[in-house]
Amino acid sequence: MAQQEFKIPEKQWAQVFDKHNGPIELKQIPVPKPGPDQILINIKYTGVCHTDLHAWKGDWPLDVKLPLVGGHEGAGVVVAVGELVKDIKVGDHAGIKWLNSSCGQCDFCMAVDEPLCQKAVLSGYTQDGTFQQYALANAGHAARIPKELPLDAMAPILCGGITVYKALKESHARPGDSVVITGAGGGLGTLALQYAKAMGFRTIAVDAGDEKAQLCTEKLGAEVFVDFTKDDVIAKIKEHTGGLGAHAVILLAVSEKPFQQATEYCRSRGSVVCVGLPPGAKISASVFNTVVRMLTIKGSYVGNRLDTQEAIDFFARGLISAPYKVAKLSDLPKVFEMMEKGEIAGRYVLDTTV
Ligand code: NAD
Ligand code: ZN
Repeated sequence: MAQQEFKIPEKQWAQVFDKHNGPIELKQIPVPKPGPDQILINIKYTGVCHTDLHAWKGDWPLDVKLPLVGGHEGAGVVVAVGELVKDIKVGDHAGIKWLNSSCGQCDFCMAVDEPLCQKAVLSGYTQDGTFQQYALANAGHAARIPKELPLDAMAPILCGGITVYKALKESHARPGDSVVITGAGGGLGTLALQYAKAMGFRTIAVDAGDEKAQLCTEKLGAEVFVDFTKDDVIAKIKEHTGGLGAHAVILLAVSEKPFQQATEYCRSRGSVVCVGLPPGAKISASVFNTVVRMLTIKGSYVGNRLDTQEAIDFFARGLISAPYKVAKLSDLPKVFEMMEKGEIAGRYVLDTTV
């Protein structure tokens, strides 16, 4: 069969900012050309992750490329491939994730721990990302998306899904164990509740407000909702877990306080997994309790290529249906505003047609 051909324009629409906290402008920029090991994806939908907001604000001690096209949850159609790319064809569906490429040669890459590669290229952070109509991905790292899957629902899986799935694996919780998800009503949180359920865990959701409470308990399978603005978080979680605390805690929240509290309601021999990245935040725990209760405190950072394919496979099998709303690429500044206020229940996905 003849290879499908796409007409690739010279220019495209993109959301670009020149400086942290500066204006985010929808403007026309050149369509990039793939290098030998890259593919060019016509992004149809892109999720908006809180990481994109951190990047715009300059929240972290890691330099951002400027000017920048943010975004790292892009799902679309492959329209061009570099000469070394053999297993992805024009017309295939593919996704861009946070880890755009890694060196392939360091100790971490060789051990398939590629998120830890010191030469990692990050989509929408050190390389232009998915808030544009055409974006580049390293072919080895691009997510392979089966054609029958909807690209809008797929987009949030490409960072949110992979990240929470990996964090749940890192917690070493077992089926039947109780897992606290803090930030449960947000983009990662709503996905975490779904992955946790599919993996056989019992979930306790921590976030704020009636909309998120209803969503977490009635739609996403949380056994109980703890409102951090009203409830005594530690007491309520302990009460729900027979006084012993939860087997694992997945910290997805964008504020520091839960990182200070988590070991207080984590069961002895349990694990606290840090995923959220509130600027300048520190974790604290009593050394005495950590020792005598044999607690594990760890970080978890996105996932490798196998985690990516597994996370997509959970979705493909119909086990994940986290809520998302579709907006336009031009709505990005509004989405950031709502996200900053914690007003988004689930994820926003942007349609890139302008
Ligand atoms: P989001 O804005 O969609 O959700 C964050 C949620 O945290 C909101 O629902 C908010 O109400 C809630 N929250 C705020 N303070 C809280 C508190 N004290 N207790 C409980 N909940 C609280 O954000 P998101 O896109 O889900 O991202 C969450 C965090 O994860 C961000 O910091 C992001 O940068 C980070 N992240 C990390 C990785 C990784 O690999 N480690 C990957 C992706 C995102
Ligand atoms: Zn992300």
